[in-house]
Amino acid sequence: MLELRPTCENCNKPLPPDALDARICTYECTFCASCVDGVLRNVCPNCGGGLMPRPIRPARNWKGDNFLGNDPASTHIRHRPVDAVAHAAFAAKLQQIAPQDR
Ligand SMILES: [Zn+2]
Ligand SMILES: [Zn+2]
Repeated sequence: MLELRPTCENCNKPLPPDALDARICTYECTFCASCVDGVLRNVCPNCGGGLMPRPIRPARNWKGDNFLGNDPASTHIRHRPVDAVAHAAFAAKLQQIAPQDR
């Protein structure tokens, strides 16, 4: 199950389960939209993959107990700010490679 992390890993902005600006990579590394667009250039600093909007887990029990009340968001904060200069070089290198070849 997807881990709904509580904050942006770069700037530590709160990203509650219903945040519309939460972005994740396939490893669930979690960032806010402004860091993804401004600092990360859509490159995850941990794996080099892209980032996409995080789906919202339903707050209400619409069906089969699959909702936040049964599967709450994580409270474990991972605040690991990126080195912006080093990341810019990393992102620039990856962006020269076609997505299917990365
Ligand atoms: Zn952020
Ligand atoms: Zn990642």
